[in-house]
Order: sequence, then structure tokens, then C-alpha cells
Amino acid sequence: MLQLNHVWRQYGVGDAKVIALQDVSLSVEAGEYLAIMGPSGSGKSTLLNVMGGVDRVTGGEIFFDGKRFDSLDEELLTGFRRGRLAYVFQQYHLVATLTVLENVMLPLVFSGKGDDPAPALTVLEKVGLSHRMGHRPSQLSGGEQQRAAIARALVGNPALILADEPTGNLDQAAGRQILSLFAELNREGRAIVMVTHNPDVARRASEIVTVADGQIVARERVASTAPDRSVQIGERRLGEVPPSLPLCNETRNDVSL
Ligand code: ADP
Ligand code: MG
Repeated sequence: MLQLNHVWRQYGVGDAKVIALQDVSLSVEAGEYLAIMGPSGSGKSTLLNVMGGVDRVTGGEIFFDGKRFDSLDEELLTGFRRGRLAYVFQQYHLVATLTVLENVMLPLVFSGKGDDPAPALTVLEKVGLSHRMGHRPSQLSGGEQQRAAIARALVGNPALILADEPTGNLDQAAGRQILSLFAELNREGRAIVMVTHNPDVARRASEIVTVADGQIVARERVASTAPDRSVQIGERRLGEVPPSLPLCNETRNDVSL
């Protein structure tokens, strides 16, 4: 679906030169769920931005469904992105003066389909926010704002969702809701690429791509995410505990994300 071939991204020149991405090749197939991890400044956001066409590469090529898009001009690129991929940001980026419903309808307005609120109502229902559709973003909790932002991302029915630290500003409970929503979207067949520096969040993806100094240094499958229901007593590990048996709090915390 999405293919990066030998992509470079350099900022500035001379002494101020920063090579944010160097010779990065990466493919994302339909229905995949990748987490991008790496230290601060390693190029995670830059990678996500060039994948989404919101930042330009300075070398290499990017293809979406076989069509090269890194060389398109701004207008063609915007049209190309529409309906194919959507962004979710750590800071939500909702429009403060609009209601939740109006925010979610924005992409439809931009694509000339803004008269019908039905698709926006459907995605608000999906993220569990129908009852807040008349509210302004400032009247919502962080988790609700992020769900509104996800609804806005979903309204164009994208095949690929790019998310930069989507749970970064949220408490654990709200973060879990977002991750459950992502899991559901992925089960529907949407591909997701999520940047995070939190290993517990990354483990919710199917694969972890590790970035260091602007390069991909590993791509690994995440071991099954099924909760471990066996019980450790001293050195011995007892077999399966029936699901009806309450788990102790520590175990619950281990599997909570
Ligand atoms: P991460 O998201 O992993 O923290 P970034 O992709 O934001 O890292 O940044 C990678 C490197 O590129 C950093 O050294 C950063 O300072 C630099 N960088 C990012 N954006 C710009 C920019 N617009 N101008 C100059 N340097 C930038
Ligand atoms: Mg970043």
C-alpha cells in the first residue's frame, strides 16, 4: 500500500544541517498496525510526516498503491491524500470555535460534500461521542477531544491512519480507550502507523519499527497480546487460570494497556 524507497530528509544547510532521515525504506501493507519507536529527535515525526505527504523528502521515492506521490505539487497531493490517509496528532488540532460535529464535518466541507451530516454522525457514534456533538472542544476532556479528532480522521474513510503520539497527552484510562478504538479500526482492515515512545502503547501494535539517528534499525513482530493468565508462584508457574477467577491487581496493571 505505502512504500518508502531510500528516503532522505535533510533540514538546513552548512553548519545548521540536520539529517532527520537517512536512506529509509519501509513498506506498510493494507491492514498492518505498526508502532514507530525511538529516542526523542530520532526522526519519528519526520518519518510519519513524509509518509503522509505533509513533509517533503529531499531524496528517495514514496508510492501509495503504486502511484508515486512525493513529487506531486501541493494541490494534487492534497487531492491524492483525501480518503486514503488521515492524521491524528498528540495535540488533537481541533478548531476551537467549531462544535464537535462541525469539526468532524470539516474534511467533508473541504471535499465539497459538507451538506450532509450523516457520515459525521456515524463516525461520532463509532467513537462514542454522539452525546457531545454540540459541544466545543474546550468543553471536552482530553480523551474526548482525541476521540473527536479520530472521528474527524475517519470521516473520509481512510485506508491508512497515521498517528503521532496519540495517547501522549492522556491519562491511562483515556489512553486505553484510544488504543481500543485503534484496535477496532485495525480489525476493520485499516492500516495504522502510530508513533509512540511508550513501550506499553507500542505493544498494542502488531509490529514495532525502531528508529535511531534517522534510520530504521529494527522491525519486529509483537508477541501475542493475549493476556497471560498463568500464575507465578515462587519459581513455579501454574497452568491456565480459568477466566472467571479474579486476577490480582498487579496482573491487571500488566495487561492494562
Ligand atoms: P522525533 O519525532 O523522533 O522526536 P523529529 O522527527 O521531530 O524527531 O526530528 C528529527 C530531527 O530533525 C531532530 O534533530 C530535529 O531537531 C530535526 N528537525 C525536525 N523538524 C525540523 C525542522 N522543521 N527544521 C529543522 N530541523 C528539524
Ligand atoms: Mg516527534
